[in-house]
Amino acid sequence: MAKYVYDFTEGNRNLKDLLGGKGANLAEMTNLGLPVPPGFTITTDACRHYLAAGVVPDGLDQEVAEHLDALEKQMGRRLGQADDPLLVSVRSGAKFSMPGMMETVLNIGLNDESVHGLAKQAGGNDRFAWDSYRRLIQMFGKTVLGIDGDLFEHALDALKGKRQDTDLDAGELQGLVETFKGIVHEQTGKDFPTDPREQMRLAVMAVFDSWNAPRAILYRRQERIPADLGTAVNIVAMVFGNVGNDSGTGVAFTRDPGTGRQGIYGDYLQNAQGEDVVAGIRNTIPLEELERIDKRSYDELLDIMETLENHYRDLCDIEFTIERGKLWMLQTRVGKRTAAAAFCIATQLVDQGLITIDEAVTRVTGDQLAQLMFPRFDGGADKKKIAKGMNASPGAAVGKAVFSSERAVELSEQGEDVILVRRETNPDDLAGMIAAKGILTSRGGKTSHAAVVARGMGKTCVCGAEELEVSTSEGRFTAPGGVVVSEGDVISIDGTSGEIYLGEVPVVDSAVVEYFEGAEPEDELVKAVDRIMSHADSVRRLGVRANADTPDDAARARRFGGQGIGLCRTEHMFLGERRQLVEDLVLASTDEARQAALDALEPLQKADFTKIFRAMDGNPVTIRLIDPPLHEFLPDIVDLSVKVATDGATDKDRKLLAAVKRLHEQNPMLGLRGVRLGLVIPGLFAMQVRAIAQAAKDVPGARPEIMIPLVAAVQELESVREEAAKILAETGVEALIGTMIEVPRAALTAAQIAEAAEFFSFGTNDLTQMTWGFSRDDVESAFFSRYLDQGIFGVSPFETLDREGVGRLIKIAVEEGRSTRPDLHLGICGEHGGDPDSVHFCHDVGLDYVSCSPFRIPVARLEAGRAALTDSDSDTR
Ligand code: PEP
Ligand code: MG
Repeated sequence: MAKYVYDFTEGNRNLKDLLGGKGANLAEMTNLGLPVPPGFTITTDACRHYLAAGVVPDGLDQEVAEHLDALEKQMGRRLGQADDPLLVSVRSGAKFSMPGMMETVLNIGLNDESVHGLAKQAGGNDRFAWDSYRRLIQMFGKTVLGIDGDLFEHALDALKGKRQDTDLDAGELQGLVETFKGIVHEQTGKDFPTDPREQMRLAVMAVFDSWNAPRAILYRRQERIPADLGTAVNIVAMVFGNVGNDSGTGVAFTRDPGTGRQGIYGDYLQNAQGEDVVAGIRNTIPLEELERIDKRSYDELLDIMETLENHYRDLCDIEFTIERGKLWMLQTRVGKRTAAAAFCIATQLVDQGLITIDEAVTRVTGDQLAQLMFPRFDGGADKKKIAKGMNASPGAAVGKAVFSSERAVELSEQGEDVILVRRETNPDDLAGMIAAKGILTSRGGKTSHAAVVARGMGKTCVCGAEELEVSTSEGRFTAPGGVVVSEGDVISIDGTSGEIYLGEVPVVDSAVVEYFEGAEPEDELVKAVDRIMSHADSVRRLGVRANADTPDDAARARRFGGQGIGLCRTEHMFLGERRQLVEDLVLASTDEARQAALDALEPLQKADFTKIFRAMDGNPVTIRLIDPPLHEFLPDIVDLSVKVATDGATDKDRKLLAAVKRLHEQNPMLGLRGVRLGLVIPGLFAMQVRAIAQAAKDVPGARPEIMIPLVAAVQELESVREEAAKILAETGVEALIGTMIEVPRAALTAAQIAEAAEFFSFGTNDLTQMTWGFSRDDVESAFFSRYLDQGIFGVSPFETLDREGVGRLIKIAVEEGRSTRPDLHLGICGEHGGDPDSVHFCHDVGLDYVSCSPFRIPVARLEAGRAALTDSDSDTR
């Protein structure tokens, strides 16, 4: 026979799945001998059954009745007994805390008779009894009977006038009870239920139902809490904080959740019941003042807080009530905290001998570390929000709006801070993006060009702000409400929230970044980060490399702890004045002309690689041969057509237009790019390989790795490999030759491909695109919000690796690749390489390293350490 009800003495804190957080911790405190009012918990199993079947499971009513009988015996009173009533609260409590999202009903058991019994119990305190009764009707009416809560509030306000609720006397409250009963009758056509057991039964079902209230559904989606967990229900003997001034209720933390500092942090409200504290109906007093009001309870509370911290070995938050000088614990849980507090508390607990340094690493997350690395807007500052886009690359940036890359460069050279605003960016905007403090686009998702490049640079970016109408030609954008921002107007963008503000919002810099840049750890937070990072590094199995293609990025990657470059994209090296040479290459009509263009590019490429090898100082550098379709390097087809149609076009313009038309593709992402380009344009890859080899010869200790993009068939790789190996042999340079795995076919034929590859690097941006059939540049802004709302996925697969689909392909490729080449070196260089959950996946699946943008390196190091310590535990929440 299933068991649906657990007495507090039967449970413990490990039973959160079944008893919810509140029930499990009430049981834990009960078993610790702390003063918890007796009670029992109805399990989440019962709730799930009820939600699925529409009726409570067989046997539940019976079990609840038995536990209630036992509770009545223990308390020496029966529920709602007229002359001496037991009252209970019915409280929700899911596995994950969902503050204020679900329901609670207090004072169950009161009716027209037992209200007198309650007054007698409280030493003839009629006021208290009627106050409790009106609260029951109010809460029950709203929660269980679904009556608009404002109707009760308005009636209470009308009675109070300008007075506090504590100023109402017994007679007035009795009158209010009648008014409230009238509201119930009027709204439901029925009388307020007076049978105590019926009240309790209805309240339990209302708590079950509240799991599916719209606000609870929304909260779960936001917090990524599974929708099928259900809530437990706790039935607890009532204790009263509203009996008089020797009573009260409060909340406390065992240390400051904002900074981690130890001390007394909490609020207390005299003569009040639980919901009054959160509802803010009267001003609370700081918890320290309880010492003056009731020293005995205060001292006991401090003792209990210490017991709880030592027991849970973590910051706890608690709710308590004092009833006529007697302290009762109503709730505890490991408390939420800020990112800074998480690091400080973890190392404090190590110093107190409560946890090991291994545990400290698992107590903080990469997301928390990332939060500490971004400059942020001063929380207290005034802000004028004008729109919201996607939070593509976190941080806070302020500057004058500019609408072209050239203006961004010009103004920044004059010492101005600028925000580059574009409809979308393309590789041509790179210089402007580097010059700008932040980037704002009105189109494109989190893997759009703007987003990827900005994240790579650690630069704040808000993308896909579709509410903005950007006119680059007129140099302005229009935000909702007719706000017009013209070039030179100051705006502030928050890449962490996606919000866009008019004017300057003050920014606070990150001390943690200064530390990663080489500053000595000084304050407590930075010291804590230093200790945790050192330990994470000492335990992690995964290597961490950088996606970097400039010497500056390479140098930063080293400072941030990168152990090499896992992806050096070479396409950025073909822009600017070199574009001319690419044009010559495309227009070449003879072998000689083509070779001349390649010969001109080669020394430039060699110089690029030399600088990067130097910055990497003997660490491996994986250089990916050119990937994007060639037309990306040529002028825009529309601009060129206009030019050719009007006067002033040169012969070259006309030839270029013909070439651009010839190269135009409907689906360039699936077209002539990557290895296909290398096979179709003779000499292009060979030129790059020669430049790599020559550069490696010049830099002692250089460790180049040559990576071929977009391979789908081993034959493609074999033919490029043969040519590359010949060049390497001629120059006497050693380099691994490997491939990206970006096309599902490559993953599925990994056993063959591994015969021609010394390493695989999973390009999960393209692999996600091609596995899902989602265009990287379009889908996020087009419809991902719908998909997220409908729960088709909980997070974008471009952000967190989709384990079931893309992950499965990776697993296949790892296993099959290693089956033909056991020492195959394996890494990932898609955006997922810096995502916490994806890093855990990479650890689990046995990759050798992850590669991510330099600014994500610390996050990846920490998560790789956490993955090693928790091993197959993938829950990084
Ligand atoms: C990828 O596809 O994951 C990758 C790293 O290559 P790119 O983003 O340059 O296409
Ligand atoms: Mg790719």
